[in-house]
Amino acid sequence: MSGETTSAPSNFIRQIIEKDLQAGKHATIHTRFPPEPNGYLHIGHAKSIVLNFGIAEDFPGSCNLRFDDTNPAKEEEEFVEAIKEDVVWLGYAWSELRFASDYFEQLYEFAVELIESGKAFVCDLTPEQVRDYRGTLTEPGRESPYRDRPVAENLDLFRRMRAGEFVDGTRTLRARIDMAAPNINMRDPTLYRIRHGLIHHQTGAEWCIYPMYDYTHPISDALEGITHSLCTLEFEDHRPLYDWVLDNITIGCHPRQIEFARLNLEYTVMSKRKLTQLVQEKRVYGWDDPRMPTIAGLRRRGYTPESIRRFCEAIGVTKAEGTVEMGVLENSLRGHLDAAAPRRMAVLDPLKVVITNFPADATETLQAGNHPKDESLGTRELLLTREIYIDRADFREQANKKYKRLVLDGEVRLRNAYVIRCNEVIKDGAGNIIELRCAYDADTLGRNPEGRKVRGVIHWVSATLGKKAEVRLYDRLFKSPEPGRTHDFHQDINPDSLRVLQDCVVEPSLAEGRVDERFQFEREGYFCLDSIDSRPGLPVFNRIVSLRDSWGKKADE
Ligand code: ATP
Ligand code: MG
Repeated sequence: MSGETTSAPSNFIRQIIEKDLQAGKHATIHTRFPPEPNGYLHIGHAKSIVLNFGIAEDFPGSCNLRFDDTNPAKEEEEFVEAIKEDVVWLGYAWSELRFASDYFEQLYEFAVELIESGKAFVCDLTPEQVRDYRGTLTEPGRESPYRDRPVAENLDLFRRMRAGEFVDGTRTLRARIDMAAPNINMRDPTLYRIRHGLIHHQTGAEWCIYPMYDYTHPISDALEGITHSLCTLEFEDHRPLYDWVLDNITIGCHPRQIEFARLNLEYTVMSKRKLTQLVQEKRVYGWDDPRMPTIAGLRRRGYTPESIRRFCEAIGVTKAEGTVEMGVLENSLRGHLDAAAPRRMAVLDPLKVVITNFPADATETLQAGNHPKDESLGTRELLLTREIYIDRADFREQANKKYKRLVLDGEVRLRNAYVIRCNEVIKDGAGNIIELRCAYDADTLGRNPEGRKVRGVIHWVSATLGKKAEVRLYDRLFKSPEPGRTHDFHQDINPDSLRVLQDCVVEPSLAEGRVDERFQFEREGYFCLDSIDSRPGLPVFNRIVSLRDSWGKKADE
């Protein structure tokens, strides 16, 4: 990690916090990141993580990681562990690890308090009836016939709900607010529902009633002494309920909820429901498939935590909804890797070249710099032999002057080595080129030949000493910038999002690479070893990102 201490750019939330501090409202700042453990974190969550943990780092203050685990039907321990791993990998340390389920008993007690003060009641309407009574944006709702139940009866029924006496869906606990409120969230919202037969990953079978998010969230925030509760814009309409809950119970803290626009990224989906479908329907290898917008996927793909943090800071935090181009995320990585990644040579589509004037058993050791702009990255040895591979795309029998690579009877420089000239093209019976016969000019190491023009520079690998490798090239997971905007998102899945190249040959030094290393394969892009599928002797490389943002252009260079 880079160890630099850059403070994130300011934004409207940081400005509110500064004002609150100046006004003496708080001694220190407390934030929290509250994921529901019903899937893996994605790049949108990273925006919230960088915001919440970044504020705690810079002000300074503290930030809790709190699992919002009130719906055991969808939540799993696997997700809890994955989320913790991702937050740590992004470079953050939580002050305290909490679960909303830690507060189930307190939440129950606060519900009793609401019942006692006539602010909540047990309702016997079915879920369909509740919906029907709720009204619409233009019509007020109707009051539940159970709304005026005596307190003692409500207390008894709520206790018996907890004791498991009633089946799912027969009763709920509801707040008693205002069925005519223009904000539908305030129309006697449900606070508790009955859910039998679920094993909660934290509380096991202890509970058969579960509190709703809108009730749990403000109380969890207040119990943890959160000062600023940051959430995405869709919760703006829930803020009156957030405040109502805290105003109507005896609790000594009232966090300030502030909403910001969620991150939307082109050519991908971010809803956990859709990501879960991609995984369950095996459209991808798993949550950590390198094409997924999940943190685990980006990590396996080769993204660095720095590049994700910088991206989240660069896009900023506002109240304006928008969609960010994928190129913005990719560029935050390119900038970082261009400076930091050692250069290597890898031939993805090998074509054999025999250097006919090079001795058959000889190996010449050449020194090559690891980085053209940074000598501190050192040098490595390249091994030149009589037989080498170049990329098939780097040869044409004939081409015009614009083609800066090898042609028959033309010359090209082998990167970090000599100039070669192609004298003969060998083809199989079907007319496919299978080998080139070339001669090298021993006078051209580190200097240009006199009086002749060399077309360009191409990369190469020794055919006898290079190592076989698999290379995976990734493209966008979706063909359209807003998958599923007007139809089912499955229709937008890009069938060519993965290309597996199995016959690649890489520099010998790459065979000993480590999973956390990232390389620039010269002229090809940035690559890293796949943390799951790579094996000693058969390395598997992921292309993290291409060298340039050429998406959509069918570039011929
Ligand atoms: P989904 O609707 O896909 O299930 P979610 O918002 O319900 O996602 P949570 O686990 O509840 O997912 O999110 C945890 C936190 O991350 C919340 O505070 C939420 O506002 C924030 N968050 C989720 N998605 C984004 C996003 N795309 N951009 C910014 N913040 C996000
Ligand atoms: Mg949620």
